Amino acid sequence: MSDRHILTAVAWPYANGPRHIGHVSGFGVPSDVFSRYQRMAGNKVLMVSGTDEHGTPITVAADAEGVSPQEIADRNNRIIVGDLTGLGLSYDLFTRTTTANHAAVSQEIFLGLLKNGYVFPQTTLGAISPSTGRTLPDRYIEGTCPICGYDGARGDQCDNCGNQLDPVDLVNPVSKINGETPKFVESEHWFLDLPAFAKALGDWLGTRKSWRPNVLNFSVNLLEDLKPRSYTRDIDWGIRIPLPDWQDRDDKRIYVWFDAVVGYLSASIEWARRSGDPEAWRQWWQSPDADAYYFMGKDNIVFHAEIWPAQLLGYNGAGDRGGSPGSYGTLNLPTEVVSSEFLTMEGKKFSSSRRVVIYVRDFLERYDADALRYFIAVAGPENQDTDFTWSEFRRRNNDELVAGWGNLVNRSVSMAAKNVGAVPQPGDLTDADRDLLATTSGAFGTVGELLGRNRQKAAINEAMRVVGEANKYLSDQAPWKLKEDPARRDSVLFTALQAIKDCNGLLSPFLPHAAQQVHELLGGEGTWSVAPRIEEVTDLDDGRPYPVITGDYGTGQAVWASVPITPGTPLEAPKPVFTKLDESIVDEELRRFEEGS
Ligand SMILES: [Zn+2]
Repeated sequence: MSDRHILTAVAWPYANGPRHIGHVSGFGVPSDVFSRYQRMAGNKVLMVSGTDEHGTPITVAADAEGVSPQEIADRNNRIIVGDLTGLGLSYDLFTRTTTANHAAVSQEIFLGLLKNGYVFPQTTLGAISPSTGRTLPDRYIEGTCPICGYDGARGDQCDNCGNQLDPVDLVNPVSKINGETPKFVESEHWFLDLPAFAKALGDWLGTRKSWRPNVLNFSVNLLEDLKPRSYTRDIDWGIRIPLPDWQDRDDKRIYVWFDAVVGYLSASIEWARRSGDPEAWRQWWQSPDADAYYFMGKDNIVFHAEIWPAQLLGYNGAGDRGGSPGSYGTLNLPTEVVSSEFLTMEGKKFSSSRRVVIYVRDFLERYDADALRYFIAVAGPENQDTDFTWSEFRRRNNDELVAGWGNLVNRSVSMAAKNVGAVPQPGDLTDADRDLLATTSGAFGTVGELLGRNRQKAAINEAMRVVGEANKYLSDQAPWKLKEDPARRDSVLFTALQAIKDCNGLLSPFLPHAAQQVHELLGGEGTWSVAPRIEEVTDLDDGRPYPVITGDYGTGQAVWASVPITPGTPLEAPKPVFTKLDESIVDEELRRFEEGS
């Protein structure tokens, strides 16, 4: 047991709509599995995130509806908070980027970078919409690729040849919003001097041996082509630039991505302020022994392995220009950037706009959260793009959760409840009994080692292999045939129940809802797995109300070790822990999908 301080920094879902299961397979479930495991292992976890609410897509949605960007953000923030809570994601604080606290922290980071000389002003050509005068962000400009001639290239990238582009390079650029030809005008902006961090970033990445190889290779390759990047944008929705001639301008804001990543720090500070100890965040951000794990999909690696570390290095005064830390002091860089690949759906890329999508809330209306968590853990995109299909989801649910784990719990508890009414008193244990218990208790070491390194797929496969061993033991020992030998029967059932208690511990990070049920089926009282809750709060500085996700996770009994069961603990006939899915759901879901697309 240790008591390391571990920051779980979870990518901020963008508040332009509800999140789909592809999103939560990247940032959501893996970060929660990691945090729950680390808490069980005795570490001090701070898991923070929130909705990312600035940037052009939200202003576009607001224009389309004739409402303010804040109204769009408010609505989607509430939906996303509900969805993530429904999945059981155990945030210590899930907040948002439109708080006064977040603006202040984002501005402090900008000023720290400015003080140390890592941001500088520069005039560039920016695209605007001639009819509205508004900036057109890269992704809303489409044209012919100047490199390969593909005519669906976006302003930021050509999906055909994969080259990064600038909108001004596109042949025949048009606005995807209204089809007009964008105008390019001179615009003054602040730039982050990324080349000044090439050495510091390279030195840091050189020490990151434990990362997933694909993430590390991608991050190292980014260093070959570091150019200054615009820290500000022409937009009227976002965080103001805290400088005398800029503060009051209505057309300049900090770039949404550069404030979103500051959210890890601002959410930690908000959590500390709400906890009653405003300095408490420093234990996760400044102690040399503290660790920080960042969870996301692979499209966000550049912002977590390059931009955010550069912002931190510059704020600390640790780039080529030197400098000194700002008022927060020296801040820790990420220990690991844990990135997942993409989840596709029935062979297609998830896309809300093309309606190739399964929203989290629709999913949770029809299926259990743990069934989705299980699928993501065992068959999700940890190391490569993977496909979600309803037939595979049903097969995994029925064959593995229901017939494997659920059935082991159900038949063992019901036999003990029926024959003894309690956890039986065992006699002398045989080699077979002791072997099984050595396997189940020993698995805390092997599965825990995998979870500590975020090899979650290997971890759950090992946990389920142990469940298989327990099922095999029960079949081999066949306690239902031991009516004539109740003493031996009781030893077998005791052994099975202890194995179940162990397996339930191993599976708790993955299946927190089921883990609570199994805890109760084994006669346990109180809370094993703590569920997150939604709390209505007011902004600490300007008083506006909003919902956050939080929880008292330290009050759960779940620990990462074999916990002995107590003979004599009363048991009742169990209710099934998991729901078997009928074959018809596959066709129903595919029909919904066809109708939607
Ligand atoms: Zn191209």
